[in-house]
Amino acid sequence: MSTIKRVTVRHAPRSIWGHLAEREKTLPLVTPLDVYPEYQDTRGSWFWDSRMAVVEIETDDGVVGQGWCEDGVGAISLVIDNHLSRLVLGSEASDVEGLWDRMYRASLPYGRKGIALQAISAIDIALWDNLGRAAGKPVYELLGGPVHPSIPVYASALHPVGHDKVAQEARAYVAEGYEGMKMRFPFGPGDGVRGMAENEAHVANVRDAVGPDIEIMADAYMGWNFNYAKKMCNRLEKYNMAWIEEPFVPDDLNSYAKLRQETSIPISGGEHEYTKYGFLNIIEKEAMDIIQPDLRRCGGFTEGRKISALAQAAGISVIPHAYGMTHIHFALADAAIPMIEYFPLPAWADLPDSEMEPIFIGEPKPSNGRIAIDPLPGLGVTVNEAIFD
Ligand SMILES: [Mg+2]
Repeated sequence: MSTIKRVTVRHAPRSIWGHLAEREKTLPLVTPLDVYPEYQDTRGSWFWDSRMAVVEIETDDGVVGQGWCEDGVGAISLVIDNHLSRLVLGSEASDVEGLWDRMYRASLPYGRKGIALQAISAIDIALWDNLGRAAGKPVYELLGGPVHPSIPVYASALHPVGHDKVAQEARAYVAEGYEGMKMRFPFGPGDGVRGMAENEAHVANVRDAVGPDIEIMADAYMGWNFNYAKKMCNRLEKYNMAWIEEPFVPDDLNSYAKLRQETSIPISGGEHEYTKYGFLNIIEKEAMDIIQPDLRRCGGFTEGRKISALAQAAGISVIPHAYGMTHIHFALADAAIPMIEYFPLPAWADLPDSEMEPIFIGEPKPSNGRIAIDPLPGLGVTVNEAIFD
């Protein structure tokens, strides 16, 4: 039994998604604002500054747990300092269920999704890290795992940067041992039929480069509409894709459900969805074949386990959004998770100067297309103090 005596949140001017977020500000890819010509060229024209919030929870035995979430607009510390911390301070650290439910209920008038849930997620992750450190056990063990010794990762990159460069990048991932890889669609409805042909050419190029035995998928990052997606899927049926990701904005579940009736290509989404209630809605509407919760958004480990249980019972795969220790521990403890995402630096790209200092000390990298970790206490990493202002 240990009591929470300190909850602090600090802001770091770094993207929780690593180098990808910085690079994607200028790389070609379709986005939800693609229908507006002034925002068509780059995501950086509308995207927020890449920043993160780091939460620390210290218990009266001196154990410190860390959690984190995205914090592009700087609102996480307001939510935690002005409200959530007083629900947590003085409580038993092991009461993860009760604390989650109190935070969720107390934040309902301004919460349920978005920033409030990201703040709850960061606190929940810090609680689990604290519990693991206090017990001297990795979080995956507290969650009941490991159900497997290592997890496949898929390479997530392949922006449409030119035919030969993309083919080379795809072949390099195969040589590095990845059995799956995800590309970004360049165009959406704002770019007409010419854009459709280029979307198809991008997929065809990757399929040609890797051959028939590698899983390929593509992300539309919420940039399409139903009629456009229906036509695109008709064009793409022949490439044996593992999934098409986030064709529509997250609230447009009717379009997701209709698209699934139109195509044999699995449809994925959910990286911008929150809580078991949000995911139950997806599942009940039969809107997706694969859900992609992110524990740093949807409610941390405590809620992520419930989301995964719902999906498992409905015959839906769970493939968490983005890399990180949270998702490695989650996947090690959950038989419904067949793989996780990884953002490799393409051979043609340079690491941005702002990313030279690592965010986490001790974060392992995949090798030969898989990730395995040492059984260190908690999440097994610490946030690098050098990233703070
Ligand atoms: Mg995505």
